[in-house]
Amino acid sequence: MSAAIEQNREERMDSEAPRMNGMAFAASGKKDTWTMEKYFAREGVDPLSRAFDGKIAVHPGVGGGMVPPEEMEACLETLLDRPRQGDSVAYIHVPFCETHCLYCGFYNRGYSREESARYTDALIDELRLWEKKAAQEQGPVHAVYFGGGTPTALEAEDLERLLKAVRAHLPLANDCEITVEGRLHNFGPAKMEACFAGGANRFSLGVQSFNTKIRQTMGRLASREEVFRRLELLKSYNQAAVIVDLIFGFPMQSMDVWLDDIAAACSAELDGMDCYQLNVYGQTPLGKAIKEGKLPPSADIPMQSAMFAAGVEALQKAFYRRLSLTHWARTSRERNLYNLKVKGSANCLAFGPGAGGNLAGWFYLNQSNYQKWQEEVRAGRKPMMMLMRPDPRFYFYRAVAAALEQGWMDMASLERCHGVEIRSALRPLLEQWSRAGLVELRGDVVVLTLAGQFWQVNLSQLMQDFLKHTLDSETNR
Ligand code: SF4
Repeated sequence: MSAAIEQNREERMDSEAPRMNGMAFAASGKKDTWTMEKYFAREGVDPLSRAFDGKIAVHPGVGGGMVPPEEMEACLETLLDRPRQGDSVAYIHVPFCETHCLYCGFYNRGYSREESARYTDALIDELRLWEKKAAQEQGPVHAVYFGGGTPTALEAEDLERLLKAVRAHLPLANDCEITVEGRLHNFGPAKMEACFAGGANRFSLGVQSFNTKIRQTMGRLASREEVFRRLELLKSYNQAAVIVDLIFGFPMQSMDVWLDDIAAACSAELDGMDCYQLNVYGQTPLGKAIKEGKLPPSADIPMQSAMFAAGVEALQKAFYRRLSLTHWARTSRERNLYNLKVKGSANCLAFGPGAGGNLAGWFYLNQSNYQKWQEEVRAGRKPMMMLMRPDPRFYFYRAVAAALEQGWMDMASLERCHGVEIRSALRPLLEQWSRAGLVELRGDVVVLTLAGQFWQVNLSQLMQDFLKHTLDSETNR
């Protein structure tokens, strides 16, 4: 997995993610009585480093409740008979990794060569299950993302088969972005050419750091020199956008090392890069190693916020275009479509064990047990484990989340598009966030400051929770 965690992973990780919430109400354990203040940030402090105690773990947003298992099938049939409307993406999950990177909470299965063909066969079978259903066959799919895990771990012939099957079984838009996520270790010319033959036009590669010592301590195998060689090779085909993920906040990663990571990525003249903050989860090998004193601690919040700010400055100086708060483009080849659309309200057709999809706001989760997933597919059934109905304001909340992900939100436009009055409801909250240095109000447009950008996950979640409470109270009045 590259660090492009994005929606699919947030949904899968949600149950185990620590709820690190800086607000007193969450930590107190007392009965939650509603007060406006619990949505507020700290005032009178440096907002970049101290607006909150920590980042709120993202969750899938405001849901409308679980469909009881006995009703799932009938519910699904109705959904599948409807053609998809609006934007759509597809997510193809490949759960294998050749090593377990220490920081990763998504490691699922070790890779074996024999499993590659078997798994690819099963995925192709799953792609066929809904082939004749309106929800799969009608309406263009604008972006496909092969994520994991490590899709580039698959054998070359399986990568090509899988990509071709996706093109055969999903109605891809003419300008569909087809991303293969992976790592550069064990990704040589045969696999690269297989991906091109299958139609891949974007690679998202988890470099994380160019520093060999940090890379190898974290379980990434290739050295800095090897990473550069592979990137050069991939670029030399001149057929796809090449993007790398970088992470800031690793143990031993000083500010100088971080700035060198960005400079190294810039020097490789790629199409874009994504910069993510390291989240250390207690159950990961990294969390345990730090706790046991085997590794120095990762960066604390003030250091992470300084690294975030330094990254923004460096990329702006290098004239990268900002596609979202974490995604940067150098060339016009990089569009970052999947990530932008999946954060909004796009439908998502999902395949593979544990993959999460969404049809018109109805969120579903595939069976995450690898064996059970295979058995279900073999029996000709979509291996679905959970179905959740959407909140009546699903599209509105997703529009709020997508806007803040870009760093600004036009309240008048949201009101027009979704018929929801928010300007007066949000005023006290936005005034407080403005005093705290997190947002600027430019007429009806809310713009996140640099500090607000660093705390965007908190602002987005708090705003959605606040709006949900306020709008639901108005409805029930
Ligand atoms: S390659 Fe490493 S970071 Fe990616 S999913 Fe596997 S263990 Fe996690």
